[in-house]
Amino acid sequence: MSVKVRIPTPLRPLVGNQADIAVAGATVMALIESIDGDHEGFKGRLCDDANNLRRFINLYLNDEDIRYMQGLDTPVQDGDTLSIIPAIAGGSGQSFPGILAELKKTHREISAQEVRGKQDGGDSFLLLDVRESEEFRQGHLPGAIHAPRGFLEMKIEAIAPARDTALTVYCAGGVRSLLACETLKNMGYTNLESMAGGFGDWKQKELPIETPKVLSDKARSRYSRHISIPEVGEKGQLKLLGSKVLLIGAGGLGCPSAYYLAAAGVGTLGIVDFDVVDESNLQRQILHTPERVGTPKISSALKTLKTFSPDIELIPFEERLTSANIESIIKDFDVVVDGTDNFPTRYLINDACVKLKKPCVHGSVYRFEGQVTVFDPAQEGPCYRCLYKEPPPAELAPSCAEAGVLGVLPGVVGLLQAVETLKILLGIGASLRGKLLTYDALEASFQTFKLRQNPECDYCAAGKEFPGYIDYEHFCLRQSA
Ligand SMILES: [Zn+2]
Repeated sequence: MSVKVRIPTPLRPLVGNQADIAVAGATVMALIESIDGDHEGFKGRLCDDANNLRRFINLYLNDEDIRYMQGLDTPVQDGDTLSIIPAIAGGSGQSFPGILAELKKTHREISAQEVRGKQDGGDSFLLLDVRESEEFRQGHLPGAIHAPRGFLEMKIEAIAPARDTALTVYCAGGVRSLLACETLKNMGYTNLESMAGGFGDWKQKELPIETPKVLSDKARSRYSRHISIPEVGEKGQLKLLGSKVLLIGAGGLGCPSAYYLAAAGVGTLGIVDFDVVDESNLQRQILHTPERVGTPKISSALKTLKTFSPDIELIPFEERLTSANIESIIKDFDVVVDGTDNFPTRYLINDACVKLKKPCVHGSVYRFEGQVTVFDPAQEGPCYRCLYKEPPPAELAPSCAEAGVLGVLPGVVGLLQAVETLKILLGIGASLRGKLLTYDALEASFQTFKLRQNPECDYCAAGKEFPGYIDYEHFCLRQSA
């Protein structure tokens, strides 16, 4: 006696991929057990532990549903066909709509307004945004923590170490958040809810959103070596991109400073220079090129900086600094980098920085020697006039043109100025405020000297009224070292 049992596709892997099996037995159950004897696990797929037919499986003896006969005890006869008909939703395995319907039953859903109500009511819960980074960057719920679904398992324990933390999860439309809830549930989280309708619904209800300040993918890649330093990070890089630095002089000091500040992603660089490129500048002023000799330094500098940092804003000031224009030029900048080579301009810069409380990164070079310091009138420390009350007379103050300078020396000093500038912008480290750093190239030595504020200084001493600018006679026409 033999009955043909037809095996549905999902169960065929269990029986060596046979479509039907001829088997002997007196009842339906006997047939199932007989197959299970040869193919372990077969019965378990059809019946539960109490030997009841699973609810998503129907069995037909010939064309009759055994539920309407004697169930699993229905007797069978030689030549019968037993067909196993499982519930099939389409596709292989459980369909997505099926999963979603299950999840909606399993997890608590909450509306956008209810989430807002909880926020307004000061409820204690964590709001998790499980969307992708790009979606999050374009706006999110106030106070949301970003934990993209792909990284959820890795991130959640740092965000919510306690498994009973109240977590409200949302995505764009309320589907991924349900899937995320399932993941969290499997990790042991017990207090979960998913925001139905997601960010889309939140936006449609015109509830408040926050647009985070984050780096673009391009900037993230370009500044990745900054981002990986904890003292800088994405926050620091955003700070740099939002910063404005004014370089006074596009010469020996200004060129290397500008080069690196632009490369480092200082978002706005202003450059003051009224000179033209001279053949003799090329020995050290690395933004300029031989074919630009005779053209304005400012346009030459801009051209070079644009080629490797096209996204930063460059503001040219092709004019000589005077007491009449200095305030309007420096007022919008965060830091002033002094790269001049003449005393009248240095005093003008100092006095204006003291008056407007702008940090000034001072650098100077002479043959083989360089000096760097930081004057920061907003904080404690001296100003330039505390050190030297007045400029020396013209005959004792040679400019670069007369004194000469080793070509790479302004490179060293200009870069030290750039480093100090970045530290000020980022608010990290100990600046050279109150300290003069000297570099002797021939001796290969650096030395630091303490600089003290003069309590009687006419310009920076507490309680003194700004005495006004002094336009010293210009004994050096060049503005930059
Ligand atoms: Zn002073």
